[in-house]
Amino acid sequence: MKNFPFYNTIYCFAIAIFLLTNYSFAQKPYVLLVSYDAFRYDYLDRNITPTLTNFAENGVRALSLEPVFPSKTFPNHLSIITGMYAENHGIISNNIYNNVNGRKYSLGNRAEVQKSDWYLGEPFWVTAQRNGIKTASFYWPSSTVNDENYHPNIYKEFDRNVKYSTRIDSVVAWLNYPQKNRPHFITLYFCLTDDYGHNFGPNADSTNWSINQMDLTTKYLLEEIDKSDIKDSLNIIFVSDHGMTEISSERTINVDDILPGFSYKTQNSGTFMFIDTQKENEQKILDLLKKNENHYKAYKKSEIPEYFHFNKHPFISEIVLIADLGWSLIDKYSNKDYNNGEVHGNHGYDNRNIEMHGIFLAKGTAFKSGYKTGTIKNIDIYPLLCKIFNIEPRQNIDGDLERIEHILK
Ligand SMILES: [Zn+2]
Repeated sequence: MKNFPFYNTIYCFAIAIFLLTNYSFAQKPYVLLVSYDAFRYDYLDRNITPTLTNFAENGVRALSLEPVFPSKTFPNHLSIITGMYAENHGIISNNIYNNVNGRKYSLGNRAEVQKSDWYLGEPFWVTAQRNGIKTASFYWPSSTVNDENYHPNIYKEFDRNVKYSTRIDSVVAWLNYPQKNRPHFITLYFCLTDDYGHNFGPNADSTNWSINQMDLTTKYLLEEIDKSDIKDSLNIIFVSDHGMTEISSERTINVDDILPGFSYKTQNSGTFMFIDTQKENEQKILDLLKKNENHYKAYKKSEIPEYFHFNKHPFISEIVLIADLGWSLIDKYSNKDYNNGEVHGNHGYDNRNIEMHGIFLAKGTAFKSGYKTGTIKNIDIYPLLCKIFNIEPRQNIDGDLERIEHILK
């Protein structure tokens, strides 16, 4: 027994380590961030979303979630996860042309989407991992970037055919992992309301069906989480990247009709358009576009109004056109997309227009309950997440915790 004090000390030390480790696990919050693509702010007021409405009544509901310009999918998912305007996080559009090396970023080009040099901001999952927090993603734009210092600990290659219930089952399985491996920050993404909003317009019966389907999906998600041991320590945030508005083949602006005889190229179409031409023609083309302004605005890059936060990035062209809400900019290449009457909804317009706004709902240990607030800016979500996890945000972000922290307990 003469060695007893020695072993006793080791034993006590081991217990202390065990308690400390588990104490720190217990103190780290859990956050699930869910994105419903193009779920407009007022879809919650159509009496077809009982689950989301009930969730909101017991948590935080913002009047709307303001996207950044352009109110498109990739720019805004990046703004939510980095706290930056598009001109700063680098994903200025769903389609980007690198005018130095000729590479083209587009949603359909998986190889380019996975290259880290397009992305200039730090996603929250990287900030979290630097602070020892495990993260996971069942989809989020940029979560599959092929760089071990960029992606979440667990991530999935995007496949739109993976059933929503399968996505949810995986996320709930992660939340039930042994403590050592369990992610504390998880993202989840669904695109049904975007598909229906584009195809049928935001006010169609079919789109209402898709809104109701997402409410049923939410019901399944919450029921499955309810069976999990950590249900009482989980914070859930429901957001959308942007809204949706009605468009029509009757409301198009063909730039080819405005610029006959000029040599130029266009990038993007519909809600906004870049015009590229030889330096010596730029002013003439800009003057002509400005003179003919009708349901759109023409800007020289350096004169784009400050509130768009859209002129710093080198791949933004020297001439930028922004269509009025519900109008579509076309040229000979994009004519068929907007003139055949098959697309009835779009987004990407001036982000201050409320029809471009999404939803923000949150509930859990970190949030006030039964709390309604005004419009929230999506760039403020990154600093909010940092506050919930009590970690330092990056200093170069555009988001501001002071504008949003009143929603926390
Ligand atoms: Zn979207």
